[in-house]
Amino acid sequence: MAHYVVVGGGIVGLATARQLALDYPHATVTVLEKEDRVAAHQTGHNSGVIHAGVYYKPGSLKAVLCRAGAASMVEFCREQDIPYQVCGKLIVATSEAELPRLHALHERAVANELPARLIGPGAVRELEPDVSAVEALHVASTGIVDYRQVASRLADLVQKAGGTVRLGARVTGLQPDGQAVVVNTTIGAFRADYLVNCAGLHADRVARLAGLHPPARIVPFRGEYHSLRTSAEGLVRGLIYPVPDPRFPFLGVHLTRMIDGSVHAGPNAVLATAREGYSWGRFQARDVAEVATYPGLWRLARRHFRYGLTEVRRSLSRRRFAQSLARLVPAITADDIVPAGAGVRAQAIAPDGSLVDDFLILHARRQVHVLNAPSPAATSSLEIAKHIAAQLR
Ligand SMILES: Cc1cc2nc3c(=O)[nH]c(=O)nc-3n(C[C@H](O)[C@H](O)[C@H](O)COP(=O)(O)OP(=O)(O)OC[C@H]3O[C@@H](n4cnc5c(N)ncnc54)[C@H](O)[C@@H]3O)c2cc1C
Repeated sequence: MAHYVVVGGGIVGLATARQLALDYPHATVTVLEKEDRVAAHQTGHNSGVIHAGVYYKPGSLKAVLCRAGAASMVEFCREQDIPYQVCGKLIVATSEAELPRLHALHERAVANELPARLIGPGAVRELEPDVSAVEALHVASTGIVDYRQVASRLADLVQKAGGTVRLGARVTGLQPDGQAVVVNTTIGAFRADYLVNCAGLHADRVARLAGLHPPARIVPFRGEYHSLRTSAEGLVRGLIYPVPDPRFPFLGVHLTRMIDGSVHAGPNAVLATAREGYSWGRFQARDVAEVATYPGLWRLARRHFRYGLTEVRRSLSRRRFAQSLARLVPAITADDIVPAGAGVRAQAIAPDGSLVDDFLILHARRQVHVLNAPSPAATSSLEIAKHIAAQLR
């Protein structure tokens, strides 16, 4: 009986394990997760948005898997009785200068066959009375969900299908053994006929354990959140985004009504001093050394020095953070927001300093390595899982 081992109990690993259990009912599936719970990292620290797929280059994996993934995610939540809402979102141009970029985004949304339309300030006010906009793009198929709940349900389904989720199992080594691979972990060794690496912030390291030379390195970018005080929550009904700067893969700080009714603002994007560096105080010498000696990062830093500096300043000043939000909703002030944790994005950077834009999924013999799965990978997870299972077929 074939044994499939999936490294990583985030949403991508769990969705993949569940898909493998569905596709190969006679095989066994084991998920190895180093933490004491699933969804401990990116999956449990994100904005909870079911992205429609506006931003991504038509035909790219992100565009294809996000659009299909949003539909699959909604279907999954409906079937599984997990709370979700398809509330739509607004991408807001706050000055004339942003209009060409907003219109380009509209064209891209149309090319990606999404229900998106440009609306004027009057229509914007009907949807979001406190937003200041010259024009906005309304995307009807965007939604919200708690991805922790989705991940935890996927883990249950893996186990119901006869699979196993082993917590506290850090993968420390991978040794070829004939056709198979021996997976050494902190709780013992597992023999895998097939291996899938979904280790998120550590995916490049796990690939190196397998003897691969990944074409890009994971660089951790922290995204910090604030939440609106209850007294200010009424200023935001749904999801309000700025027009993003196309040079960066991050969407800019936005306002998100979460599925529990609270309103989150963020995330920004600062270089983290540890792969799991959720605050400025968290420092890992190995992680910093790896980043500091990577020529790709220095090339990126040279190109985007000013952008990086602005992000750091905003990270250190609640007033600046509030000012960014006030561009979208002028009534928001620094007194309306309180810090609300952070997430760390696993962003792959190529040696030439370019950010790997698309999902990067490498297929080696009897192995698949997910080497770049930043946003919208939570949205796309059920479709990424099908893509991986197909590669192993
Ligand atoms: C701030 C932020 C906001 C985001 N917002 C959104 C959003 O609104 N919508 C959206 O679709 N996406 C969003 N994303 C992206 C989304 O969260 C991620 O793309 C997705 O969660 C990636 O899932 P994953 O399973 O690949 O990674 P992770 O959730 O990070 O899981 C990887 C797992 O591997 C484990 N692991 C690592 N190394 C080992 C090892 N050696 N042995 C065993 N286990 C190991 C880790 O402990 C971890 O649990 C956001 C991300 C961030 C950080």
